[in-house]
Amino acid sequence: MKEAHRKRILVTGGAGFLGSHLCERLVMQGHDVLCIDNFYTGTKDNIAHLFDCANFELMRHDVTFPLYVEVDEIYNLACPASPVHYQHDPVQTTKTSVHGAINMLGLAKRVGARIFQASTSEVYGDARVHPQTEDYWGHVNPIGPRSCYDEGKRCAETLFMDYRRQHGLSIKIARIFNTYGPRMHPSDGRVVSNFMMQALAGEPITIYGEGLQTRSFCYVDDMIDAFIRLMNSPEDVTGPINLGNPHELSMLDIAKRIVALTGSSSALIFKPLPLDDPYHRRPDISRALDALDWHPVTSLDEGLQRTARYFQQLVQQRDSRAAGSDSALTHQAEALRRSIVAD
Ligand code: NAD
Ligand code: UDP
Ligand code: UDP
Repeated sequence: MKEAHRKRILVTGGAGFLGSHLCERLVMQGHDVLCIDNFYTGTKDNIAHLFDCANFELMRHDVTFPLYVEVDEIYNLACPASPVHYQHDPVQTTKTSVHGAINMLGLAKRVGARIFQASTSEVYGDARVHPQTEDYWGHVNPIGPRSCYDEGKRCAETLFMDYRRQHGLSIKIARIFNTYGPRMHPSDGRVVSNFMMQALAGEPITIYGEGLQTRSFCYVDDMIDAFIRLMNSPEDVTGPINLGNPHELSMLDIAKRIVALTGSSSALIFKPLPLDDPYHRRPDISRALDALDWHPVTSLDEGLQRTARYFQQLVQQRDSRAAGSDSALTHQAEALRRSIVAD
């Protein structure tokens, strides 16, 4: 890459599912990438393959604290994303969204960097407009178990818009709809990871409610394309802009597909629906099509197959690690026993 095109790019939450794919893509493009993460839900394993790249750097840092670095662009992804994770410590979730946004916006303001916010379809809540368009203001419970995430992300959007209006910042807000793929956390409780892990283990597939609620799933590679297009779009394209795959299906449908493609013998079982679980969700992506010339290209079957291969490898690695550590422990125990006997 020519020096003039090479940028210093900060990715917050870069050791997470989406962040690790984004870091990888930016490193491959030749940019200098600074990944920061507090490893709350992310892991070094997700980015270990980048450690040998001279243009990749990792820093342990929590975005709720100020950060003084010199960069040209900031992708602000830091925030636990699955309901199980973000509800585990809801106060920290709101702090991460709100204090994290203030700190990253303050940094962008000081160094004149363009800044991208990973917002979410959750800002629409249990939507009364379907499919969801960006001008819909949403139907969100401000005091429920999902509110720490939903309201935190809504407040972050407000801050982004106000830093633009008040301080003239260059901002990009992406409203990300459900995204799946390799490096999802196997126990994050999200539907794709749960169903995959259950199917591979031959355990019952847990459908919440009657399984008639819908979501629209986008494959991670398509989503990363959209992030980079949005970041590089003209100054007046600020968003919020919906990013996702409009292919909508019920949880019952996706359970059946995952069982079929993994060749699993798992049965489907029904569990109570969590409180405030949105009934349906599908993005209207006309804006992304117009402004970014973007639409997803990976079919659900292809994406699920690639994801299943990842989870299969993960399970195999864990099994062999467990077997390895068992045998290491056995050796240690045996050495200890011998030394005691010798004494
Ligand atoms: P993830 O949990 O895998 O990644 C989040 C990363 O942020 C993790 O590495 C975590 O350790 C880190 N993090 C959390 N709190 C932090 C803090 N205070 N300081 C520094 N790092 C912190 O989730 P993901 O799916 O990769 O989501 C990334 C972003 O995209 C999130 O902001 C999420 O809200 C948004 N998003 C994701 C989806 C999706 O379907 N994956 C949908 C909508 C929005
Ligand atoms: N900040 C940061 N890095 C910087 C500049 C600012 O982390 O390089 C944080 C700092 O905590 C500050 C916040 O961003 O409080 C908001 O900055 P801003 O300049 O908007 O407002 P301030 O609070 O400094 O008046
Ligand atoms: N879900 C389910 N079984 C599971 C996990 C999730 O039926 O084991 C449902 C959940 O109730 C929701 C949908 O799948 O209706 C998507 O859940 P996820 O947590 O993946 O994302 P979100 O609700 O944030 O869209």
